[in-house]
Amino acid sequence: MEIEKKLEFLGKAAQYDLCGEACSPMVHRLKDDLGRWLYPAVLPDGKRVVLLKVLLTNACVNDCLYCANRAGRDCPRMAFTPEELASTFDALWRRGLVKGLFLSSAVDGKPDDVMARMIAVAEIIRRRYGFPGYIHLKVIPGASKAAVEALARWATRISVNLEAPSPEALKRIAPAKNFTENLFAPIAWIKELVEEGKVLLPAGQTTQFMVGPGGEKDQELLRLAQSLYRDFGLRRVYYSAFQPIPDTPFEDHPPTPAWRENRLYQADFLIRRYGFTVEELPFDSEGNLSREGDPKLLWALKHPEFFPVEINTADYYQLLRVPGIGPRSARRIISARRKGNINCLEDLKRLGIVTKRAAPFITLKGKKPTFQMSLI
Ligand code: SF4
Repeated sequence: MEIEKKLEFLGKAAQYDLCGEACSPMVHRLKDDLGRWLYPAVLPDGKRVVLLKVLLTNACVNDCLYCANRAGRDCPRMAFTPEELASTFDALWRRGLVKGLFLSSAVDGKPDDVMARMIAVAEIIRRRYGFPGYIHLKVIPGASKAAVEALARWATRISVNLEAPSPEALKRIAPAKNFTENLFAPIAWIKELVEEGKVLLPAGQTTQFMVGPGGEKDQELLRLAQSLYRDFGLRRVYYSAFQPIPDTPFEDHPPTPAWRENRLYQADFLIRRYGFTVEELPFDSEGNLSREGDPKLLWALKHPEFFPVEINTADYYQLLRVPGIGPRSARRIISARRKGNINCLEDLKRLGIVTKRAAPFITLKGKKPTFQMSLI
């Protein structure tokens, strides 16, 4: 089969996998003039690049209930050989069309056999073609520790898709997978390998959850995310709102609304960057985040005892609790205070603070600023 046809097809098949480089389903692919599927992405160092995002194969022996590539689904199946994929990437790179690779795969045999082909792709790209740049490799569920280590040697970033936050939720969407052995164990191995200095992984490891069809609660997802950040050193957790795919057992399952994915990202950010714990987040009685307002604002409204925060004396973490103030603006406030007092909302506006949101929760030199209350 022609390489271009495979590239078109297996690039399209990779669309459900988040690369973990600020690619989300909301970020649209670029279809270049050759009809190839490329993704704009933001790397962990903030650089904007285009990645070739592709599957090695879409043939799968597993039958995860939500997946377009599941065994038995009537669709064309294709596979690259490692040589084909490596030389295709090299040609795109040399023409300046891509700056990195995101490689995932369905499971068309034993997990370690699929991993061996992925390792071969990365090794050829690095050794034969001398590519020094960004390669994100996805671990195949059920791979051995030796295969995970061999894969990680060539990767800038590696990821394992946990898919669900518990064995029970995973059973509801991917009955053939074992949460602990197939998915969680590799995350712990990768942590060990990095700590032992056996692999470098400059952009660390990430994971992804499929949100919705497993019946999981936001609280479960975020509790596990918190532990993954704290205990396993993950760089990012990605949340993918489920969208039904025709001719799968979940084709009639309602799609997960985009606002739920958005709320999860907001809450995740509070845990990762703002010093919040899951226990502090405002969940409803079912354990889910509210559609009505962002979690930081809802937390602030529920905690009047914490406010007002005096902008001229509060520490970094107190400032971060104020709606409308993020890590960058909190740092700007602290640096501006060294030069003198912050006297009015205009001063804050100049520092990039969303004053409409912050005003009800602050004082400036002991005085509450006058403001118009904004709606949630
Ligand atoms: S293992 Fe499951 S999620 Fe992955 S490609 Fe196969 S059916 Fe899809």
